[in-house]
Amino acid sequence: MIDVSASPTAAELDAADPLAAFRQEFHFPPGPDGRPSVYLCGNSLGLLPKAARAAVEQEFVAWEQRGVEGHFHGESPWMHYHETLTDATARLVGARPLEVVVMNSLTVNLHLLLVSFYRPTATRYRILMEGGAFPSDQYAIESQAHLHGLDPADVIVELMPRSGEHTLRTADIEAKIQELGDSLATVLIGGVNYYTGQAYDMAAITRAGHAVGAYVGFDLAHAAGNLELQLHDWDVDFACWCTYKYLNSGPGGTSGVFIHERFAQRPDLLRLAGWWGHDPAVRFQMKKGFRPMPGAAGWQLSCSQVFPLALHRASLAIVERAGGMPVLRRKSEQLTAYLEHLIRAVGLPSSQLEIITPSDPAQRGAQLSLLVHQRGRELFDFLAQEGIIGDWREPNVIRLAPVPLYNSFEDVRRVGDALTRFFK
Ligand SMILES: *Cc1c(COP(=O)(O)O)cnc(C)c1O
Repeated sequence: MIDVSASPTAAELDAADPLAAFRQEFHFPPGPDGRPSVYLCGNSLGLLPKAARAAVEQEFVAWEQRGVEGHFHGESPWMHYHETLTDATARLVGARPLEVVVMNSLTVNLHLLLVSFYRPTATRYRILMEGGAFPSDQYAIESQAHLHGLDPADVIVELMPRSGEHTLRTADIEAKIQELGDSLATVLIGGVNYYTGQAYDMAAITRAGHAVGAYVGFDLAHAAGNLELQLHDWDVDFACWCTYKYLNSGPGGTSGVFIHERFAQRPDLLRLAGWWGHDPAVRFQMKKGFRPMPGAAGWQLSCSQVFPLALHRASLAIVERAGGMPVLRRKSEQLTAYLEHLIRAVGLPSSQLEIITPSDPAQRGAQLSLLVHQRGRELFDFLAQEGIIGDWREPNVIRLAPVPLYNSFEDVRRVGDALTRFFK
């Protein structure tokens, strides 16, 4: 067994880390001993950026000083507030500005997108999703089936790993899509599975779906701010994501939406409409007859929720200053590989502990999911006492996600050290 605690590697890696200083820009909750915790839960709720308070305060001041005039005047008039997030959002997910908008929250947007991109007919009515998807996605899809008077059991087809495996093979996903063929209306899969941490091959899935005439969309809750995404080039039809996980925009934060450019000039595409998606040139004429704005903006319903958007804008600015996703991803791959190395170095048999996240860096983001067959809950509680915050997912998985903006290699080393002490 390697004594990872003696390894000098973490300090060296931190010294060479171009992102090391960004850690100072976040608040870390204190652990039981009062020291900042080792926070590996950014896949669930990202940490509070220190810049967030000032960003919100600016809008309090605008409201205080201008009242309703804040919609039209000041540093960031609220009428155009959402537009100030467009360019950074487009860069974040590999989209053109016309293809993205930030609004609502994630499950709401899933519904809005399914209204447009799940259009079942008598013969083409199935939805393909991953088995064990995040529950909100399961309920959203079930209720969309009901909305069309269909039985979810007929509509929903779930992808399951082969027996003895924990994750899906791309070839199996493609084969299932081909098998469903003309009956497949929509593919809706997570970009990264919340439980296993597996990142799917979104380009391959999109190609396969389009080859049988289906729409293809992704829930990017665990992928946005985690992976380098190229939604436009991958030809994805639609996607949405929350901003409070890897994007640090606060509990219940706002959500991003992507709709491919090919739908940008399709006012005929069925959607649920509201005034904020209406052509702004005539919005305030308050007339009948919805005329959508081109692009994703034409799916907006309500006037912008300025406070959640302000939090998100502050957080996106940090991502941009860090150099964007290519820079974050490079460090993320190293951090997660280092965590994997230290866990393996403890030398546990797979009957005791397995990493169910793929070891291929291309098939995962920041998160590793540890399936702990014995003493799982005890291990989780031990880590918590050591000031290491991960999360527990029933029945026996501990998820740990070192994130590149604020986690250090030293954080990861502390995890390896704690595991060694627990299992010795
Ligand atoms: C986190 C998460 C959600 C949460 O949805 P909200 O509408 O933001 O509560 C939904 N789907 C997936 C896949 C998630 O990971």
